[in-house]
Amino acid sequence: MAEGKRDYYEVLGVSRTASEEEIKKAYRTLAKKYHPDLHPGDSEAEAKFKEVNEAYAVLSDPEKRERYDRLGFAAFDPAQGGTGFTAADFDFGDILSSIFGDEFGSAFSSRFGGFGGGRKKTAVRGDNIMTSVTISFEEAAAGCKRDVSYGRVVKCDECGGSGAEKDSKIETCDACRGTGQVTFTQRTMFGVMQTTRTCDKCRGSGKVIKVPCHNCRGTGHIKIMKKLEVSIPAGIDNKQRISISGMGNEGRGGAPSGDLIITVNVRPHQIFERDGYELYCEVPVTFTEAALGARIKVPTLDGPVDFNLPEGTQPGTSFTLRGQGIRHINSQRRGDLHFTVTVEVPRNLTAQQKKLLNEFAAACGENNYIKRKKIFKFFDK
Ligand SMILES: [Zn+2]
Ligand SMILES: [Zn+2]
Repeated sequence: MAEGKRDYYEVLGVSRTASEEEIKKAYRTLAKKYHPDLHPGDSEAEAKFKEVNEAYAVLSDPEKRERYDRLGFAAFDPAQGGTGFTAADFDFGDILSSIFGDEFGSAFSSRFGGFGGGRKKTAVRGDNIMTSVTISFEEAAAGCKRDVSYGRVVKCDECGGSGAEKDSKIETCDACRGTGQVTFTQRTMFGVMQTTRTCDKCRGSGKVIKVPCHNCRGTGHIKIMKKLEVSIPAGIDNKQRISISGMGNEGRGGAPSGDLIITVNVRPHQIFERDGYELYCEVPVTFTEAALGARIKVPTLDGPVDFNLPEGTQPGTSFTLRGQGIRHINSQRRGDLHFTVTVEVPRNLTAQQKKLLNEFAAACGENNYIKRKKIFKFFDK
């Protein structure tokens, strides 16, 4: 049941230590964003809406939240002794009205309720804006803040979005008599055909502006440069996206704004590679260190740490440093660091060094090289 499920805190975009108020606030924002009335027929939005509601049902209930913190999804998995429930067990309407209250509840239905039906087309949700930032590997691991600048379409402040110059009139379109649509008849070889299309003169708005606003040239919207400080959470991975609700283009006619969606590019690291929250690197040691064992330095994101390399370590052996990997997003948990030992064979030897190595080799017997022994036995057959 827990497979493929996102962490409830992640779903609501809050930290594990978030207060009840923060959780409530995050939920309100998301529930509005994904409300099915705003996305008729959009199964992805519907799934998100359910996910958000499920997360909220757990995190808003102190007892359920405590169980979830302790046991994760297993807390609600009947197979693992938990109390089973799914999103289907919740009454969204109940949750919504309990959260949004009567005042908001009615605003909600009057603002959004009509979307499925005969609402005027002038209310259009603002477009999402896509942008990207590039951060270093270390910044991704530790989390960081970035100023993001982007062009955002907002309501024109000169005309308040009407598109008409101050003190000028907005008149009902005479071509369509304010309906926004014109019907015309055409004589074709198949007979007389009647067609309805959007009015050219008013572009479907039903209104005609006598003197267009000088600032927005009658469109009612202008593009401004917006600068926003964005918190990038620790643990973010290359190409992951951060969505900032309501910071996209402004909606029209009272409809909600779009979102700002930031793709995070993470530059590769010189030493470390990453797979999920696990870190990998190679640590070259000398032949002598591998043979005798040694206290070596291993790089981690927090700086080098000491490690006792055991005697007789073979090249390609991997060791794990628990909890030295990447921090999980919105959690204190960390992955592990796995390092693989490689043996760097010495180069540029002096005559003296060669002599010593030859002496050493002469002193070695077959018990020093177990792998070779196997191969030679095979040759002798
Ligand atoms: Zn018209
Ligand atoms: Zn204007």
